[in-house]
Amino acid sequence: MPKKFAHGSSAIQDGKLRGTTDTDYFYFFCPKCEDDQIVRVLDYRIVKEEMINPYDLGMKSKSEKGFVLQFQLHCEKCEHSDTVKISNLGWQVGNLSKMDRK
Ligand SMILES: [Zn+2]
Repeated sequence: MPKKFAHGSSAIQDGKLRGTTDTDYFYFFCPKCEDDQIVRVLDYRIVKEEMINPYDLGMKSKSEKGFVLQFQLHCEKCEHSDTVKISNLGWQVGNLSKMDRK
């Protein structure tokens, strides 16, 4: 099992981590299992929190603050563990598939 809050593995990068909602809850699917197995979220941490979000510059909308949250994911079926981050400090407009990620 990788370190609890290690960087997300190649299994979840480049669009390989997917998910969905039912009501307003979001569920992540295991990137290893092929049948949309929902993974557990075992823990989270605040990686970064900034009272002024530099991404707000030039935006019509303004955030309350800047943040990066990291979630620890685990699949009960195949035992795959991973992490994923959600942030409002970068990439919040435009089409991700058309961006140069490298
Ligand atoms: Zn799995």
